[in-house]
Amino acid sequence: MKYFYDTEFHENGHTIDLISIGIIAEDGREYYAINANAQWRIINQHPWLSENVVPHLPEPSSPEWKMKWQIRDEVAAFFAGDDSAQLWAWYGAYDHVALAQLFGTMMDLPKGIPMYTNDVRSLVDFTGIDKLPKQSGTEHHALADARHVKRMHDHIVLELVAREHIGVVPIRAIQGVELRNG
Ligand SMILES: [Mg+2]
Repeated sequence: MKYFYDTEFHENGHTIDLISIGIIAEDGREYYAINANAQWRIINQHPWLSENVVPHLPEPSSPEWKMKWQIRDEVAAFFAGDDSAQLWAWYGAYDHVALAQLFGTMMDLPKGIPMYTNDVRSLVDFTGIDKLPKQSGTEHHALADARHVKRMHDHIVLELVAREHIGVVPIRAIQGVELRNG
């Protein structure tokens, strides 16, 4: 199954500190959490984050604020039982590290969570399909951004199917959508 996700994070060139994570599974399940253990003193003083990310977070009393260990356990459960998970993100290199570091090192990643994230941004380069839908939800809200990753992905794949150019991208990348439309 494909999983479309996005994280918000604070990075300083050395570390990536998870702020929030949103995941959309192809079967309709959604996950969203904010990391109560992030370095909020730094994040709240960060010019860009305090303006673009922090205002979209729910109230600190919201149950979506969780300890990092709790997010780790819930994310593992979200993927559990799927032995063909695919991760998809948008400019996803940093997102992959933020996700993977919930569990520790690369070696600590639970079985079933891939060690790499497919990038919808790469699909744009591979296919030349660069007219993408505009985001309708809140930008820089991890769950809204994850929904938009899925929307862009589905747009590109459906466009490829329409053009009968489905051989252009790796078969695994298009399988799900091809089957749903076939
Ligand atoms: Mg985002």
